[in-house]
Amino acid sequence: MNIETIAIVGGGTMGNGIAHVAAQSGKQVTLIDLSDEVLERAVATISKNLDRQVKKEVIDEAARAATLSRIQTANDLEAGAGGADLVIEAVPEVPNLKASIFETLDRVTEPDTILASNTSSISITEIAARTRRPAKVIGMHFMNPVPIMKLVEVIRGLATSDETTHSVIGLSEELGKTAVEVNDFPGFVSNRVLMPMINEAVFALMEGVAEPEAIDTVMKLGMNHPMGPLALADLIGLDTCLNILEVLHRDLGDDRYRPCPLLRKYVAAGWLGRKSGRGFHAYA
Ligand code: NAD
Repeated sequence: MNIETIAIVGGGTMGNGIAHVAAQSGKQVTLIDLSDEVLERAVATISKNLDRQVKKEVIDEAARAATLSRIQTANDLEAGAGGADLVIEAVPEVPNLKASIFETLDRVTEPDTILASNTSSISITEIAARTRRPAKVIGMHFMNPVPIMKLVEVIRGLATSDETTHSVIGLSEELGKTAVEVNDFPGFVSNRVLMPMINEAVFALMEGVAEPEAIDTVMKLGMNHPMGPLALADLIGLDTCLNILEVLHRDLGDDRYRPCPLLRKYVAAGWLGRKSGRGFHAYA
């Protein structure tokens, strides 16, 4: 199936990045969020990120303008997703929220529309079971920041068809990404491996092993990671990290995934990382 029109639900950190790369690759995009105000902010972020690409001579002015012209916005699921070939959901990592959005999408889109989730950890099989088209439900896990990161982890639910998988892998390649197919299991590969490391770094901070800067420097210079685990958590969003760890802890049933109490405390304080200006590090 050729995918030309894409609706993206949620215009936050991930949704605006997905809209950016999809529109830049020539797709017609509708970005859906709760209010016009949030949507204006999302489009302003895309615009700013395109400016940066122009300055670095990655794209020219004409490509910048064409990309923006392909992005429409909507604050209503039915109006925004109705005619799409593919819907990519990127709302917060909260199982009930995702389930209710997929129930609505199943009602308001054409039966052959593919419904994808950018979830970091929630079961694609469970999300698919909330629809009447589980063969057309799939995970499309982009990485942050989407315009820069090459990977799309493509997650097959138990009932996801080969046709749906091939369409989504083909689209990922059209967007300039490398798709890696994995099976549906909590956290898939990426967060099953990454989140325990981030959580352990927060435990190390809580137990006074070292200051945030020192923990990140050890992992950068000692392990050759491009950024330290606490800075990466700030980039991802501490609320998102906590939500993912809660899914891993509950669904795998193992205490090694228990979210660090200090992570909970920061989220409770509204210290969510870069997006709120403060996390394990402070941002201007
Ligand atoms: P975010 O908080 O930055 O953005 C979420 C957006 O969804 C917000 O703009 C919010 O207004 C909107 N939203 C909430 N409820 C909605 C609804 N009912 N209808 C429409 N829009 C709604 O979150 P994010 O970091 O972009 O994460 C989104 C998803 O992507 C999560 O599932 C997360 O696990 C996943 N993800 C995040 C990262 C990351 O690094 N942040 C990386 C990969 C995947």
